[in-house]
Amino acid sequence: MKKFKKFYLEITSICNLACSFCPPTERQKQFLSVEDFSKRLDEIKPYTDFIYLHVKGEPLLHPKIDQLLDISHQKGFKVNITTNGTLINKNKHKLLNKPALRQMNFSLHSFDGHAGSVDKEGYVGSVLSFIKEATSESDLIVSLRLWNLTEDNQTNVERQRNREVLALIEKEFDLDFKIEEKVTPGSGVKIAERIYINQDYEFQWPALHEEEDDGRGFCHGLRNQAGILANGTVIPCCLDGEGIIDLGNINTDSFSNIIEGERANNLVDGFSRREAVEELCRKCGYRKRFGK
Ligand code: SF4
Ligand code: SF4
Repeated sequence: MKKFKKFYLEITSICNLACSFCPPTERQKQFLSVEDFSKRLDEIKPYTDFIYLHVKGEPLLHPKIDQLLDISHQKGFKVNITTNGTLINKNKHKLLNKPALRQMNFSLHSFDGHAGSVDKEGYVGSVLSFIKEATSESDLIVSLRLWNLTEDNQTNVERQRNREVLALIEKEFDLDFKIEEKVTPGSGVKIAERIYINQDYEFQWPALHEEEDDGRGFCHGLRNQAGILANGTVIPCCLDGEGIIDLGNINTDSFSNIIEGERANNLVDGFSRREAVEELCRKCGYRKRFGK
């Protein structure tokens, strides 16, 4: 049986920010009910132990995130939460000491990515104070992400805005080095026990309006990861934020039927031949990273 290392179980399609690099979803705005979340966990249990609570929405907007974490624990899942971090103060009591919570990734680049952001110091300060408290009381792993580098090296403006964030982190953790001196794009720097900083290039969502290439290459979609959008659409990877590679719907069919279905098998068999059979995959930069 297939086992997925990462399973993206989106709990809401709504986000409280509008980052310039993140096309807003055209899907219906919704929150997954506690009951449906629980049913979905039962469906995917034979296939994974690790769930991620986002594809496109902001997980901390979910009013019952604490209950979702409790149910995840009862059913034996470990949970990763990727968040923009803006709602951390309001929600920290729902997150601290939840045994299911294994890792939190904070997308710090979303602050500058969102045109209306105010009070960078307050924002970074609230994230840092939470992670200090959380990591001292539990085994939580934290990644602070700045995924906003550009290929043609950074302009001064981009460098400066990251410098402000990094300076706040260096000060709070009393670091005796400059983070930029140690960081290489794509890999992490440890700044404290179980706390890492990751810098990387700005991320490009695949989309049908992008250019298509020869379609050669490989991807781990449906091999080590899969996902279910809030509306129930089963997808092969966390990059299909609109559910274009619609493998079936969990509200009307079982997960096992869906991932043994024709569309799912064609995608996996195609990549075994280094061939992207789905149009979206032929327009996805992630596949190219794995070479030919
Ligand atoms: S990148 Fe994250 S925080 Fe920004 S709009 Fe998209 S989902 Fe929201
Ligand atoms: S190639 Fe891109 S769109 Fe296709 S399965 Fe992989 S990550 Fe998803």
